[in-house]
Formats: sequence, C-alpha cells, structure tokens
Amino acid sequence: MSRLNGRPVKIRDLGEFGLIARIKDRLPTLPASVIRGIGDDAAVSSLPSRRQLVTTVDLLIEGVHFDFSFLPPYLLGRKSLSVNLSDIAAMGAAPKYAFLSLAIPESMRIEILDEFLRGFLEAAIEHGVSLLGGDTSASPGAFFINVTLLGEGAKGELIFRHGAKPGDDLYVTGTLGDSRLGLKIAQEKRNKRISSEEKYLRDRHFNPMPRVGEGRTLGESRLVRSMIDLSDGLLSDLGHLCEESRVGARLWVERLPLSRCLRKVAGKRESADWQMALQGGEDYELLFSASPKNESRIQALGRKWKCGITRIGRIEPAESGVVIEGRSGPVDPCLFKGYDHFGGRRSKRSLSGNEKRAERAGSWK
Ligand code: ADP
Ligand code: MG
Repeated sequence: MSRLNGRPVKIRDLGEFGLIARIKDRLPTLPASVIRGIGDDAAVSSLPSRRQLVTTVDLLIEGVHFDFSFLPPYLLGRKSLSVNLSDIAAMGAAPKYAFLSLAIPESMRIEILDEFLRGFLEAAIEHGVSLLGGDTSASPGAFFINVTLLGEGAKGELIFRHGAKPGDDLYVTGTLGDSRLGLKIAQEKRNKRISSEEKYLRDRHFNPMPRVGEGRTLGESRLVRSMIDLSDGLLSDLGHLCEESRVGARLWVERLPLSRCLRKVAGKRESADWQMALQGGEDYELLFSASPKNESRIQALGRKWKCGITRIGRIEPAESGVVIEGRSGPVDPCLFKGYDHFGGRRSKRSLSGNEKRAERAGSWK
C-alpha cells in the first residue's frame, strides 16, 4: 500500500491534475490515426473515408450498478469498458477510442484507482482501443464512472436492431444464463468455497467477454439483417429487437445454448436452467437475425469461433408476438411475470432493503 506520512495515500493527495497525469503515464503509444489524445482541450483523430462513426455511452454508479464489497476494482475497470465494447460489437463495428470520466470520493485509496485503471486499460489494449480523454472530479459520495466509446464501420456493414424480417432465422453466440446464475452464487457465497463450475459462472458475471471480433466479422460478412447485444436478458432484448423491427418471433426452448456448468449447478439447485437462459441478464452475447438463405455461411462462421453460435428461433410477423416453444408445447408467457427465481426482480412481491441492495449491486442495467 502506498503511504504518505505513515498513512495510506488518498485521491485528495493527488489532486485533479496529479490524477490525470497518473492516467496519462500509463497509456501505451497512440495509433497513427490519433493527432492529439490527453492533454488538450479536446482530442483529435483523423476519420477514414467512407467509414461511419459509432458512439455509445454508459454511466455506472457505486451502490446502484456495482459495489466494491462485491466486485474488485480491477474487474470493475474491465467491465466498465466491456459493457461498452459489447454495444459497439452489436452494431457490427470496430471499437477505436474511449473517453473516461470519473467522479471519485476524495477519501478513496489510490490503489483502488490504480487497480481500476489496470483493468480498464488491459481490456482497452486487448481490443485495440485507445483512451483519448475524459473528465475528472471529486465526488461527495459514491464513485461514478462514465465511459464513452467510439467505433467505426464501413457504410452498409453496420447492423441495426430494426432490420429483422419475418422468416429470418434467429441466432445467438455463446451460452445463456451463466451470468445470472454466477451473480446469484457470488451473492450467496461471498467468502465461502465454491466449486470450479460455480467459479466459471461467477467469472462470466464479473468478467464478461464482449463478442467484438464476432460482431465485426458479422458486419463485414453482410449476412446479417438485425442484431442486439444481450444485456437485459434474452426475452427482454429480443423484445427490443422485435419492437424496433416491427416483427414477432418464435423461440425454441430446447435449443437454447446452456453451458455444462450452468446445467450442472442449476440441476443441483433444482432450478430451471432454461428460465435462467430466457430471463437472466448480462450475458453480453450477440442475438442476430439473418435470411435462411445465408444459414450455411453463418454456421460456417460460427464453427470458427470459440464461443460458437446456435440457431434458437425464427422471426415471425408482428401479429404473432413473441412465442416461446417449450419442451411440450408453447410456454405461457404469464409464467415469467410473477417468476421469483432471480431474487424478485420481476416479481410482484416487494423486496426487503437487503434484497434490493443485493439486486442493485449486481445489476448493471
Ligand atoms: P478541461 O478543463 O479543458 O476540460 P481537463 O483539465 O479536465 O481539461 O482535462 C485535461 C486533459 O485530461 C484533457 O485532455 C482531458 O480529456 C483529459 N482527462 C481528464 N480526465 C481524464 C480521465 N479521467 N481519463 C482520461 N483523460 C482525462
Ligand atoms: Mg475537464
């Protein structure tokens, strides 16, 4: 631990400019497209011709979206960028430049900031993202993080939520529900020993892997008509895609991709794995639709990816709404309204203060 006159060094000892210098000192060399990064009134970069700019922003607040007693600062740093990377991936774009604004309580130890930055910059380097600026302020209470991420893609290669057509196949990358079960495990077993399967699920929640390369490849392939990333849960995000495209959809429950760890841990708890896959949030997988004529080419792309892809349903006319086909016929959508499996988020039952805090601390939405 860094010490000053025998006590831990706090953010207030650094001051605003010391803090900005601390961030700047850690940055790797900038790419040639950047004319000016940190250190001027604004950042400047050159725009490639015939490319379109893609921008996304996320605000994360301590006590609302995360809780340090729960998520170590290094993982918080990673996840702050990862959730934005996932949004850029869902557009079929390539992430390029990040801006990081922080409001930090003055009494925070600098090690927490250093760990946060280590995670953030590590994720940035992994995905070829340069930090070009931000803003810094003292906060009277919580730690606030605001990340802006810019990306780019060629005209005609970006993929929107509104492009789905009835008859399209629906695909998803990776496996579903792991993050939600991982959060539950983290909440219940804070300091207790956990099995390797439980650890896998918990890591899926704490350290999601945004599908950046996959999203970009889907953009370049021009095989896909609509796409969204899964942050709120499959059912909810499919709802957004259908609404924007003015279509309905049919999902086949028995085809939902579930990880071996989820099956094993959910089985032991006698919880319904498929309900977790349908409703659990923060999977950060990609959900997309494509014409059936592209199926073999899309499946060929999926075979090259470690996360894989699965065809889980079909886009239908708007009048059909969203239909869930269970193992023995359609599932009554009412099942999901009062469903209390996830600690009550969608339940009519009111939550206790502790339950509400636990829900919030683990929820990034
Ligand atoms: P101004 O007062 O003109 O807004 P600042 O003093 O806030 O300038 O910022 C100086 C430089 O440091 C700018 O380039 C800004 O983008 C950068 N900067 C400030 N805070 C951060 C941060 N948290 N992360 C990265 N860059 C930052
Ligand atoms: Mg400023």
